[in-house]
Amino acid sequence: MVRVRPALAQLPSYVPGRKLPGAAALASNESPYGMLPGVVGRLGELAGGVSRYPDMSAASLVRALAEHHGVDPDRIAVGAGSSEVCAQLLHSVVGPGDEVVFGWRSFEAYPILTAVAGGRAVRIPLREHTLDLDAMAEGINGRTRLVFVCNPNNPTSTAVGARALRDFADRVPDEVLIVVDEAYREYADPALVPDALDLLGERPNVVVLRTFSKAYGLAGLRVGYCVAPKEIAATVRKTQVPFSVSALAQEAAVVALGERAEVARRAALTVAERERVTGRLRALGFEVPDSQANFVWLQLADTSAEFALHCLSGKVVVRPFLGEGVRVTIGLPEENDALLALAATWRG
Ligand code: PMP
Repeated sequence: MVRVRPALAQLPSYVPGRKLPGAAALASNESPYGMLPGVVGRLGELAGGVSRYPDMSAASLVRALAEHHGVDPDRIAVGAGSSEVCAQLLHSVVGPGDEVVFGWRSFEAYPILTAVAGGRAVRIPLREHTLDLDAMAEGINGRTRLVFVCNPNNPTSTAVGARALRDFADRVPDEVLIVVDEAYREYADPALVPDALDLLGERPNVVVLRTFSKAYGLAGLRVGYCVAPKEIAATVRKTQVPFSVSALAQEAAVVALGERAEVARRAALTVAERERVTGRLRALGFEVPDSQANFVWLQLADTSAEFALHCLSGKVVVRPFLGEGVRVTIGLPEENDALLALAATWRG
């Protein structure tokens, strides 16, 4: 009998948001606006060109990203979504039994990918739905190799500020990799939420993770990247599954990067809707933390599953985290209206 690794036996599988034809899809934090106009055109032109392997170095995309961030291309490593880049980072530094620290609850892939890499997940409870950076710093010890700072945090939507993040980084030993996951950066208020690359990008142990899956509207094509110190980026590249970022994904990401004004316009629409939805939900009596992302967090505790079913009955798919809360992606205005109408008829 082939023996599978014991660490994987207990491991829950990643649970994706449900897809229900005809329903409002508010369970996966995708952009509701579809592909950017330039991307649609370029993908059509390219569709015949995929009989060859893609460029494994993703040179055009890396060049475009380097320019976008004003960094040397050597500092960038790409992957099939930032989920794969998370895995690549873990495989770069985590050996059997090494510890990986993150707030909890946070992005549900962190514990899964940590276990797959052979590491031990150390979950530090949130405080008031926000990362408790002091407790996270205290959770670091000689066995810690990596710490994820999800900012803004998925699923609770809250963010930590510049001072707290810098003070935290000051407390983390140089040999521990700090991965600031900024998947929702485009929806955050830059006056309140730091760009970790500006704030900490020159440090030897800081990596900033970004994705094309959210504001850039490319969740289905799978492309993400990190900006890291050169030596770390080189190792992260080695851990990538060969050719994991397809030619279409690379091309689409380059085009999407060039459509910055449209990305910003769409993000602003989402932010305006987020504020409208938050205000209305609060008026209805829901407790909703201030969101810096493209979703809101409803602190429904034991009634989370029931609320999700109530939404489903009205053809709105949201994401319940049993016993904790419900994450609701900000969709199109009419989808948000459908959610609000259901919230108004909820008798929790
Ligand atoms: N980080 C965070 C915080 C996320 O919420 C997600 C997606 N849910 C990801 C990373 C991964 O996204 P992707 O792999 O599509 O880039």
